[in-house]
Amino acid sequence: MHSIPITTVAETVIGHRFPEGVRAVVFDVVGTLVEPSPSVAEAYARVGLRHGAPLETADIQRRFHAAWRRQEIIDAAAVPAYATSAAREMDRWREIVADVFDRTSQSDAIFTDLWEHFGRPDAWRPLPAGTNLARAAVDAGLTVALASNFDERLFAISGVIEPLSWAHHVFASSEIGWRKPAAEFFRTVERRLGHGPHELVLVGDDPELDIAAATRAGWHSHPIA
Ligand SMILES: [Mg+2]
Repeated sequence: MHSIPITTVAETVIGHRFPEGVRAVVFDVVGTLVEPSPSVAEAYARVGLRHGAPLETADIQRRFHAAWRRQEIIDAAAVPAYATSAAREMDRWREIVADVFDRTSQSDAIFTDLWEHFGRPDAWRPLPAGTNLARAAVDAGLTVALASNFDERLFAISGVIEPLSWAHHVFASSEIGWRKPAAEFFRTVERRLGHGPHELVLVGDDPELDIAAATRAGWHSHPIA
């Protein structure tokens, strides 16, 4: 009879999922732990329709992607790059909505409704892969934190949606004053958690804003599909 090696959850997690020496697992939020439900395009379509601005979801998807990219380029070109604030984050989304809806007279009312929509807990649903990893981190006794380019609306929803509610710390770029991929974002999280870069792993879905940025900051990183 073969004996089956007994491995505790903590050993499995640290040995196979999180690098040795890691003390805290820091999760990106959107696309990693949760996703919009309905989708961004569906939410925009519904609100647009309500305000007399009907658009096809495929069209919204294309426009949204371009509008989102435009705002990222503005942040990258700013001096200093990727500095942010609550006001800048609200402007970002006002501009994205205006771009998607062709800056019509309804754009501002649509923005107001969408801003409120994405600030509601029931606009989001958990993603299985990220949730499993968050569970594993909690079970391993590691500190769990959220580090997101989402704005301060995150503080309201993170308290009530699983797995976000499992986090011991929540960091939102608008409150920190820097967005990922800025090194200052990562330095601030390190300081607040009281850990060095080698004791932290960033779990995220964005190859540049999460994975490459964390690696440049000297953190471990763990891409999630
Ligand atoms: Mg993400």
